Amino acid sequence: MENVIIIGSGPAGLTAALYAARANLNPLLITGNELGGQIATTTDVENFPGFPEGLTGPELYDLMSRQAERFGTRTEVDYVTEVHLQERPFRLKTQNGSEYETKSLIIATGASPRKLDVPGEKEFLGRGVSYCATCDGFFFRGKDLVVVGGGDSALQEGMFLTKFATKVKVIHRRDSLRAGAVLQERARKNDKMGFIWNKVVTLIEGNGKVESVRLRDTVTGEESAISVNGVFVYIGHVPNTHLFVGQLEMDHEGYLVVNERLHTKIPGVFAAGEVHDKVFRQAVVSAGYGCMAAMEAEKYLANLEN
Ligand code: NAP
Repeated sequence: MENVIIIGSGPAGLTAALYAARANLNPLLITGNELGGQIATTTDVENFPGFPEGLTGPELYDLMSRQAERFGTRTEVDYVTEVHLQERPFRLKTQNGSEYETKSLIIATGASPRKLDVPGEKEFLGRGVSYCATCDGFFFRGKDLVVVGGGDSALQEGMFLTKFATKVKVIHRRDSLRAGAVLQERARKNDKMGFIWNKVVTLIEGNGKVESVRLRDTVTGEESAISVNGVFVYIGHVPNTHLFVGQLEMDHEGYLVVNERLHTKIPGVFAAGEVHDKVFRQAVVSAGYGCMAAMEAEKYLANLEN
């Protein structure tokens, strides 16, 4: 029987693990399939306090993970496939066939990249379509790429891709970017970056690998096509909450509903990070939520014993 299981290994889960471990709760962290979560797919992290020179997402994951383990966190590289929250203790099953019982649960399953949902996207995944510049950028040396989206991720990852690609064009559905001013300025100054305004991708085509994308103008409706070797998609996220459907309250976009202390409606079940936070979506904010959830779990467990 576990005191607390933490699902997810992003900044929220790792910080929850650190605080739970330091509270002597002997936490078990089940990583999920994306080790380190979204931050581990980020190239340069320049705004996590304490790292004035910046660091890479994988480096941040490594440091946070080692810090949590130093105080006794046990890490299982596994993926939770079932949760039963209507029973006590709560029960979990995993992809590797393990079953766990726990007195409390911290859900830090985060969010995943939103898909374009157009023909060709699935077919060319790994053959020109990607959601991770850090992982796949290297394969596009000397190629022409497009990045879809107008937020911070599109610009940051687009600029990273210019290290390899000949040209990176940002395709955005409006004529002004959502991204912050600093990144906008940097991107506009980068000779290898270009912008295609008021367009959405309607089709990804090729022969074994991506060769072109078809576009629709969001103002005029006009159709066009451009030749590209790769399509990197950065159009936001969807929360990873499918495990909890019918068990926990969610909003209309599928984010978990929690109170200001991160309690779900089920006592002993807490949520931390982008699985409930669709406003801030920053690694440091998720880490803060992880800390809060662990402190609340500690209080909950102490009350159980009294
Ligand atoms: P985001 O800010 O939600 O931006 C998503 C972009 O995709 C928007 O420009 C949106 O267009 C566009 N979009 C959404 N659905 C679309 C669709 N179906 N087709 C075409 N375009 C679509 O997401 P993000 O860039 O991943 O950033 C997420 C959060 O992380 C933000 O809070 C961001 O500030 C933060 N972040 C920060 C940094 C940094 O500080 N360096 C780096 C990365 C991310 P509209 O603009 O028209 O809505």
